[in-house]
Amino acid sequence: DSREMAAENPAVELAKSHLVQPWPYAGSIGAEARTLVTSGDGVYLIDGDGKKLIDGPAGMWCINVGHRREELARVMYEQAMELSYNTPWYTMNAPSAELSRRIAEYAPGDLNHVFYTTGGSSAVETALRFMQFYNNVRGRPEKKQILSRGGAYHGSTYLSASLNGRPRDRDWMDAADDLVVKLSSPDPFRRPKGMSAEAFCDFLVDEFRDTVKAVGAQNIGCFVGEPIQASGGVIIAPAGYLKRIRDICRENDILYVSDEVVTGFGRLGHVFASEELFDIEPDMITFAKGVTSGYFPLGGVVISERLLKDLNRSNHPDAMFGHGLTYTSHPVGCAVALKNLDLLEGGILDHARAVAPYFQQRLKTLEDLPLVGEVRGAGLMACVECVADRESKDPLQLDKDVGKRIDQHCHELGLLVRPLINMCVMSPPLVITKDQIDHLVAILREGISRTM
Ligand code: PLP
Repeated sequence: DSREMAAENPAVELAKSHLVQPWPYAGSIGAEARTLVTSGDGVYLIDGDGKKLIDGPAGMWCINVGHRREELARVMYEQAMELSYNTPWYTMNAPSAELSRRIAEYAPGDLNHVFYTTGGSSAVETALRFMQFYNNVRGRPEKKQILSRGGAYHGSTYLSASLNGRPRDRDWMDAADDLVVKLSSPDPFRRPKGMSAEAFCDFLVDEFRDTVKAVGAQNIGCFVGEPIQASGGVIIAPAGYLKRIRDICRENDILYVSDEVVTGFGRLGHVFASEELFDIEPDMITFAKGVTSGYFPLGGVVISERLLKDLNRSNHPDAMFGHGLTYTSHPVGCAVALKNLDLLEGGILDHARAVAPYFQQRLKTLEDLPLVGEVRGAGLMACVECVADRESKDPLQLDKDVGKRIDQHCHELGLLVRPLINMCVMSPPLVITKDQIDHLVAILREGISRTM
């Protein structure tokens, strides 16, 4: 097994002695080493044994323009030589100002102001703390409950993690449950048997409206939702659902936070998907990952001008939004993001839109495998969901390591998979070609076949 051979690498031994990796099990925390990768190029990674792998998940849905982009490496070097850091408390830098202008141009409506963070969790955390501040300053401190959904993933800081909907992210963890109200996952694959997609949409919208009524709009600060639930398994809500939720939020003065940490910056072929694909104008959009294609840890929140005006006009002009990170508006991160946007605009967004139907159509052919319950996706994100029995769709009767076993077979064959229990998520770099898609799908087919 190539992974056992990799265990001879000194980095693997050091990791087992000193490194704590994300989502570890208590029984092996601090003592495990995952697949060592040593370099990347385009859609490929090289592992510790020199084996070439297609980077199926594009890192963590983030290496949008592909690995080893010299333009991005150079701009990081040049910016660091020019101005490596400045305190955002007392000073500002030009790259963050220019990036904000460009992001505001892409963001819908009056979302014209950007606060930068170090990633997605801190972006969601910032949006939530801003909502709390906004309602405190406006004299309605009780209006702070947060609506979130099953299947959601919004981060690993305390408040953002409190919104997460997947049991495995919550089971052993504490959460701010008194601040959060949970709704159903908008997952059509698991809708009640015999219910049409339209009826399922009505059910979700009714549940939302009933929840607002039961909790009271005067107690609800915001709704937070991914346009497509990514880590939940690429869950695409029924058509029209998001817009109807948006309307209810607007009627009830509930802020709508669209979490575009995954869907933003090209994954669905656009810089932001909220308006382009779902026809919604949120009050805030959170982003991260693809904004720098993962070359630098950067995220942010785009905030509606209207909200800032409300604060400007409030009775508490001296109230301070006591929130900031050392690396807010980092000049190197913002400079990389600017160059990354140039690359996306310079053909990669067009390529992503052009190649996406082929990617989806080729992956869909895997539905003929008995283990595969459904293949679904949009743009360059997709999920292959395995089931023990297609009738019951029960994932629980499956070996809980089925995804891991598929990943192992695929690794042997030259593809990195991101197993999510019974699901394999595929979100390759946006520069992937049709030939590379064919190769990816062929390996995945063989990997799943060997697992059955
Ligand atoms: N929001 C969404 C939709 C995500 O998928 C993620 C991470 O996968 C986050 C937020 C958290 O981002 P980060 O890991 O950069 O903190």
